[in-house]
Amino acid sequence: MGAGLVGSVLAANLARKGHEVHVYEKRPDIRKAGNMGGRSINLALSERGWKALRLIGIEDQIRKEAIPMYGRMIHDEKGKLTFQPYGVGDQAIYSVSRGGLNARLIEFAEKLGVDFHFENACVSLDLREGIIELEKTKLSAKTVTFGADGAFSRIRLGMMKQDRFDYSQEYLRHAYKELSIPPDEQGGWRIEKNALHIWPRHSFMLIALPNADGSFTCTLFAPFEGENSFAKLRTEEEVTRWFQKFFPDAIALMPTLIEDFFSNPTSSLHTVRCQPWNKGPVALIGDAAHAVVPFYGQGMNAGFEDVTVLDELMEAHRGDWPELLHAYAVSRKPNADAIADLAIKNFMEMRDRVADERFLYRKKLERMLHEKYPDEYIPVYTLVTFTHTPYAEAQKMGKLQDRFFGGRIESLFQNAEISDELLERLLKEWKQYLREEA
Ligand SMILES: Cc1cc2nc3c(=O)[nH]c(=O)nc-3n(C[C@H](O)[C@H](O)[C@H](O)COP(=O)(O)OP(=O)(O)OC[C@H]3O[C@@H](n4cnc5c(N)ncnc54)[C@H](O)[C@@H]3O)c2cc1C
Repeated sequence: MGAGLVGSVLAANLARKGHEVHVYEKRPDIRKAGNMGGRSINLALSERGWKALRLIGIEDQIRKEAIPMYGRMIHDEKGKLTFQPYGVGDQAIYSVSRGGLNARLIEFAEKLGVDFHFENACVSLDLREGIIELEKTKLSAKTVTFGADGAFSRIRLGMMKQDRFDYSQEYLRHAYKELSIPPDEQGGWRIEKNALHIWPRHSFMLIALPNADGSFTCTLFAPFEGENSFAKLRTEEEVTRWFQKFFPDAIALMPTLIEDFFSNPTSSLHTVRCQPWNKGPVALIGDAAHAVVPFYGQGMNAGFEDVTVLDELMEAHRGDWPELLHAYAVSRKPNADAIADLAIKNFMEMRDRVADERFLYRKKLERMLHEKYPDEYIPVYTLVTFTHTPYAEAQKMGKLQDRFFGGRIESLFQNAEISDELLERLLKEWKQYLREEA
């Protein structure tokens, strides 16, 4: 159920392995309907996502259109720019168009033999009767079925009616709204193309990701209510004044600000946690199982990783679907919980701490440590974004790193220079710290 990003990748992989696959999707075919808009128009794709695209055989095609972003470009209130690399060497996260990627994935899956049924939404799942009701059909819930129908999953709703199904949903006080920066007169990018731009302003922030056509998709995150909130931005004058005050260099690049602001929705953000993710042959995947807030750029990547983990387990559990789905659910759940927590933590980092001197110093130290000792010190951001280390392990390592630097940062900050000796001493202390913690 669901021909979104995760449903399409899953369907392509199952077809590639010789299964007969039908996908039922609520919306019209995105290839005919064009970009449906809605949730963020472009997304950051990183290593976990690439692995799934490699698995199904579409990586090269998508790489051609993806724009590498090598770091964050921080814009302060006076328009001063600071670049913070995400990794070392040519490590980057990639800006991809949501609609474009989704259309390519559907096209690709169809060529592998997947049968898509558009405008045929899942209405309900009745596990007791063993029936999945769709708008135009009824199906047996005894057939292997994946709920890839997003954060408000109908399949999950059906599973919730079963005994001992845990569920929680938690909304942020913050909302988001899409805005845009158009290309310049020559069709080029008005600000650095290969960066994710952030205007951090403590309780709110603006970000911008590049598009292939020279434009940027911007997202404004701000509280629904209170000071500096969407509730305070009711008129054209209020919006213009607020942007002039807090984002003076951005407003100069946004000729359609007012139009975008008042025509695009103000959308909420939430985290969904549930378990178990399967009941017999029916299972949840992607946002249906684990919707997370977008601040680590991992929601889609985590959903794509569900597909690669499932693929690995398919080899071990040939043919026994309930057992395979149970193993998949049990192995993924702690990792989904970890990325949900990490994403909320990163929200505070992005809007608040990326402008803090001590935080920047720590980031620099960690990057230099990693560069000098690539296998012995790996920052949590690198573990999450550029490796396949399970999210739960990355989170554990991140907590250790926080504690290690927490007690030291004040005295370390006195060292204007980061010398080789300092890095050598820090690595020794880090290894000692890990031994003690073990
Ligand atoms: C503002 C924002 C920014 C984000 N940025 C990033 C990022 O940079 N990197 C990243 O990795 N992730 C990001 N994400 C998260 C990412 O968008 C999701 O994790 C991802 O879209 C999940 O894919 P999915 O296929 O599970 O769900 P969806 O993309 O929601 O797809 C679900 C599909 O199911 C269909 N559907 C819904 N109900 C039914 C039904 N009843 N019957 C049939 N079909 C149905 C929908 O129409 C849709 O096609 C962001 C999210 C937001 C909100």
